[in-house]
Amino acid sequence: MADTPDTLKSMLIGGQWIAQEVSPFESINPATGARNYLISAASDAQVDQAVDTAWQAQRQAAWRNMLPHQRAAILRRIADGMDANASVLARLQMIENGKVWAECKAQVASAAATFRYYAGVCETLCAEVTPPRGNYLSMTHYEPYGVVVAITPWNSPLTMEAQKVAPALAAGNAVILKPSEVTSSPALVLGRIALEAGLPPGILNVVTGLGSTVGRRLVEHPGVRMVSFTGGTASGRAIAHAAAEKLMPVALELGGKSPHIVFADADQDAAIDGVIGGIFEGSGQSCVAGSRLYVQRSIAESFIAKLVARAGQLKVGLPDAEGAQMGPIASFAHRGRIESMVETARREGAQVLTGGERPDGAALSAGAFYRPTVLGGLSREAQAVREEIFGPVLCALTFDDEDDLVEQANDSAYGLASGIWTADYRRAWRVAGRLEAGSVWINTYKQLSISTPFGGFKQSGIGREKGASGLRLYQQSKGIYFGM
Ligand code: NAD
Repeated sequence: MADTPDTLKSMLIGGQWIAQEVSPFESINPATGARNYLISAASDAQVDQAVDTAWQAQRQAAWRNMLPHQRAAILRRIADGMDANASVLARLQMIENGKVWAECKAQVASAAATFRYYAGVCETLCAEVTPPRGNYLSMTHYEPYGVVVAITPWNSPLTMEAQKVAPALAAGNAVILKPSEVTSSPALVLGRIALEAGLPPGILNVVTGLGSTVGRRLVEHPGVRMVSFTGGTASGRAIAHAAAEKLMPVALELGGKSPHIVFADADQDAAIDGVIGGIFEGSGQSCVAGSRLYVQRSIAESFIAKLVARAGQLKVGLPDAEGAQMGPIASFAHRGRIESMVETARREGAQVLTGGERPDGAALSAGAFYRPTVLGGLSREAQAVREEIFGPVLCALTFDDEDDLVEQANDSAYGLASGIWTADYRRAWRVAGRLEAGSVWINTYKQLSISTPFGGFKQSGIGREKGASGLRLYQQSKGIYFGM
């Protein structure tokens, strides 16, 4: 089936493309302001239908009795389908969230690799025979929850959706994927690819709509047994409340305000590259963006001056323009939020060292563009230092010694990621152990791997996705005893 208009105007429920029952919403290209297409919003009845259908499909022998290596073969075919549709998927993400073309292509490849990785995990992960304490054989056996809901944000839909859907299917669940309203279409194409790969109908359903209506109803639905969510901390908290009412497990990957640390002995050129990529790639719309820069005081002035010069040279452009390093912000509303936070920072005494405004020129005036921005002179109490901006805005701060650094870096509600640049491996190890963060990068940044568990400390989340253990997130264990 072609992906437009039919796939993109429908939802995938029970292997059927279902037309909307309530008013659709617009998908807007943030680089141009033009309407891409209309996306369906699921009605309450359609949400209920998706859950019922998923349950029925999950109970069918075709899926329940499918052996791990057979499920793995389907996951590999989905990966092949993603590769075969790489340009379609990358383009849909690009016109919906404005990421530059090279990053969109790389994210399709990463998403396909995730399906292959979980195919491998699926057919090699073992159950356990546990040590007996009597005359019996005892085992830990792992079973799917049944119906799992995956809810994703707009900044990296391709990779986030693969990261949830692949392990949840490998674990034997039926999945209802609810993509962000800003980036609905890659999920719909993934649904089409999964059907073509031989996934039984109803095992992957894609339901589109707003978080406050469709997302909420899915989370609260009694037929949903587990929710895997990536998004903002406020939404994650609302989901955790709803899950508490049902006593339902949730995995929450939430926001961040990650410290990026440069010691005086660091390779400064490499550190500048790392800091620039860490905050400005994807226009700063990354949960792990290194948005709080801490530079040791003795090198701070010269380091920040060089960094600011580099930031000012970054090429902001249409996402498919030759050499563009930063595309637009993903939506006009989100650019408005970023602008308002930079205004607050100015009122709180920030020096805008570069950026702090929209780029000049007619070519970009119709899009939601914003220049790479570095703010200096802020206190640790400033909103821009404490709250996630989720945009191309870096707060440059200084520290004196390790204790001062650790105290400042950990003075945050968040704890998702962090980076350390130093030539001293003993110091790197010491500081890594003291940082309250789910990931620590040493002399590198934003290095992500599907084989390494990922998640947040504190208000950055609950649970760990990725890695072989990421499959267990979508299963519950059962103790089985054979009397001897
Ligand atoms: P968001 O929280 O507004 O929305 C995320 C998803 O949740 C969307 O699909 C939305 O429709 C849905 N949703 C919102 N409220 C809901 C509710 N009450 N019940 C059910 N579903 C609901 O986030 P966003 O603006 O799309 O994404 C940006 C945020 O995501 C940032 O805070 C960023 O840090 C975070 N994020 C975290 C990670 C991570 O791995 N930790 C990765 C990417 C993005």
